[in-house]
Amino acid sequence: MRTKLAAGNWKMNGLKASLSELEGMAEAAKGVSEVLICPPATLVAAAADAASGDIAIGGQDCHASESGAHTGDVSAGMLKDAGASYVILGHSERRTDHDEHNEHVRAKCKAAWEAGLTVVLCVGESLAEREASNTLDIIGGQLATSVPDGATGHNLVVAYEPIWAIGTGKVPTTDQIGEVHDFMRARLEKRFGAGVGRSVRLLYGGSVKGSNAEEIFAVSNVDGALVGGASLKAADFVPIIEALNAAAG
Ligand code: PEP
Repeated sequence: MRTKLAAGNWKMNGLKASLSELEGMAEAAKGVSEVLICPPATLVAAAADAASGDIAIGGQDCHASESGAHTGDVSAGMLKDAGASYVILGHSERRTDHDEHNEHVRAKCKAAWEAGLTVVLCVGESLAEREASNTLDIIGGQLATSVPDGATGHNLVVAYEPIWAIGTGKVPTTDQIGEVHDFMRARLEKRFGAGVGRSVRLLYGGSVKGSNAEEIFAVSNVDGALVGGASLKAADFVPIIEALNAAAG
């Protein structure tokens, strides 16, 4: 039985005052689904204090090293120390803006696991890759190379985020989402065995809103969502959490 997960990625948005949004999410977060907010690194400690247990807090990236001469970076241990229990890795904005490749993501994943964080690993194809019918090859390659050995249902969550759907208002059809999620489930089962493969939660991400959440959550092997823009305000995120609670039955 996989606990549904509503995860919010605040990206480079949010000041201390934004943490008041967590209060507005707290009631919905007491439902059957798990709720996670990943604020910018500057807010992780304050968010963990403000969330008081109903909402898990995560980072948006971590360095592959434990410590050292890496100006501006944050280690997995630092996130954990600040109160995070999750970290997003391999987001397409990191892959594009910081030239992160699957091998970097894999090293970061190992560091996160060593620090005791659960990784939300992002995979997804570009529009050109989808139009060339390469989606499953791209996702299969990202899963094979970005995920180290040792994955479990506790230390790994995978988020399918088609790059062309992030922040664009464009959403794949439910058939397209289902095809990728079923494929990811099969790949995880093949590599890690049925027990582990079936226990890893698979999120969909890309322009999820209150208005489309219900139909997305009805798709096979969709265990929740990774949400950007609509996670910034409680008024937008609570309907998504509620739709997930309803889908969990
Ligand atoms: C994201 O960046 O992870 C994301 C899914 O963004 P949005 O919901 O805004 O498309």
